[in-house]
Amino acid sequence: MSSKAAVYDDLQQFTTKNKKKSGFDTVVKNSTYYLSVLFGLTAVVIYFYLNALANTQVRDTAIKNAQVYLHALAEFRSLYTSEVVVKVKNHGTSHGIEITHDYKDKENAIPLPATLSMMLGSRLGGSESGVSSRLYSPYPFPWRVSDQGLNDDFSRQAWLALQADSSRSYYSFEVYKGKMSLRYARADIMQASCVGCHNSHTDTPKNDWKIGDVRGVLEIITPIDSDIGSVNSMIQHTLLLLILILFLALMGIRSVMKKLNVRSIEARQLAVQAAQINRKLELEVSYRKDAQQKLLEMSLTDGLTGVANRRKFDQELLAEWRRAKRDGTDLSLIMLDVDEFKAYNDNYGHQSGDEILSALAVAISDKVQRITDHFCRYGGEEFVLLLANTSSKEAQQLAEKVRLCVEQLALQHRYSETSKVVTISLGLATLKPAAGSCAEELIKAADVALYAAKDAGRNRLEVHQGD
Ligand code: GH3
Ligand code: MG
Ligand code: MG
Repeated sequence: MSSKAAVYDDLQQFTTKNKKKSGFDTVVKNSTYYLSVLFGLTAVVIYFYLNALANTQVRDTAIKNAQVYLHALAEFRSLYTSEVVVKVKNHGTSHGIEITHDYKDKENAIPLPATLSMMLGSRLGGSESGVSSRLYSPYPFPWRVSDQGLNDDFSRQAWLALQADSSRSYYSFEVYKGKMSLRYARADIMQASCVGCHNSHTDTPKNDWKIGDVRGVLEIITPIDSDIGSVNSMIQHTLLLLILILFLALMGIRSVMKKLNVRSIEARQLAVQAAQINRKLELEVSYRKDAQQKLLEMSLTDGLTGVANRRKFDQELLAEWRRAKRDGTDLSLIMLDVDEFKAYNDNYGHQSGDEILSALAVAISDKVQRITDHFCRYGGEEFVLLLANTSSKEAQQLAEKVRLCVEQLALQHRYSETSKVVTISLGLATLKPAAGSCAEELIKAADVALYAAKDAGRNRLEVHQGD
């Protein structure tokens, strides 16, 4: 795959990876669902809470009203007793005024306190509130046996409870005459102003009353079903309003989340685009770096043989020369030249000559193994072997190995006066770079040795002996 194709393939993968569906739209759907459930539960909880609160409130109010009512009745009775009955009893009887329950049938009579209290209770109960009162005991006067006795469960329980503790009240919420009602009872205590009359009355069912005795039960019955009904209707209206508000809130939240979702998708698309551009730039930069690297390598490589070229050799020579100078080590240079190559070209053709050069480069490269050995084409049919940290003796061994390997390639050269096959001549120079010396000296010395090899008959190595 070409580099450009690889870049586009990479971009494709990158884009696909980043285009994966955003989880936000799922969040919107789920949130709406969860919020609906949450709002529904909230409405139910609020409904039950308000219901319980309102019922408690209705009952508390009914109890307070009953207390006020009872208090008013009791106050009225004691006031009537002390301010009217007692005075009439003390002075009124001399004027023929009688105090009796059947005062309506008599001309000079006023009602007993209990009679008047019950009348007041029944008149008040006649109003729309439906509140009624009862006064009863297990010892009713004969004319009240029918409506004053302990004639139901509540009255019996109330009597027993108030007998046990007259300071407390006794109440219950129950259905009374078909309506949910509060039945609230308090003890009716025998007063000093009453005890004499009760003990001495000719029709009294009990004549041993003492002051402070519980003589009866005063009960207020307050229907609360209409209050509960109106409170429930109020709660239902409130709940409907609440549901409407929650529904509108849900719609609002949903619409905001949808808008956010759209924004999120847009932002994500922009991010993907930006990332794509960025990635493209990165790949472009890397592609250019690769190309630059390749160009650099090409500029340092010989196009025909594929080994390092003269430019590379110049760089390596300079670097190795400095290193050898610094470390005080030997630096060897072998310069080698194909023998009678002009004759080869002239007879076999320039292209065959090229093939010979390539074959020699491959064979010689094969003999160069150390990283610090550099094999380069110096120019034309000349090559160099730069050997760092290598003594003359070691370099001679390698040079001989190279010469032999070329000869053993047995590349036919019928027009050579040296041999029947292609051969090379080699010149070796080894130096320990000293202060003030330069790399050119090494080249010159190797070149001199090479000329000596040519002069000596070719296909041989000559070693520069130095000064
Ligand atoms: P000697 O043994 O003294 O080195 O003789 P020679 O013929 O090899 O040397 P000379 O310098 O006379 O000739 C070198 C020849 O190498 C001349 C040139 O055509 C040939 N040559 C140089 N570079 C190349 C190349 O890249 N390809 C080919 N085919 N021939 C080359
Ligand atoms: Mg030459
Ligand atoms: Mg030559």
